[in-house]
Amino acid sequence: GYMLDGFPRTIQQAEALETITADLKKPLDAVINIDVAPAKLVDRLSGRFICKTCGATDHKIYNPPKVAGTCDRCGGHEFFQREDDKP
Ligand SMILES: [Zn+2]
Repeated sequence: GYMLDGFPRTIQQAEALETITADLKKPLDAVINIDVAPAKLVDRLSGRFICKTCGATDHKIYNPPKVAGTCDRCGGHEFFQREDDKP
């Protein structure tokens, strides 16, 4: 078996997953939909930043680095935001 977390994120990915699971004859058994208010989702997604050096993920509200602007894991100072994490 398998569990997917954070995938699919787009309609295209969902359609691709549907094709893949059909080809493999391993359909999904269940889907867990966590219902969250849209404004809360935007807060969660748009506050997420990824370290360019090591890929660690921080969040400006829910998981800020101990020192602002510095990655806790590697000490890096450059971060980026994924396109699909933007409001
Ligand atoms: Zn880092």
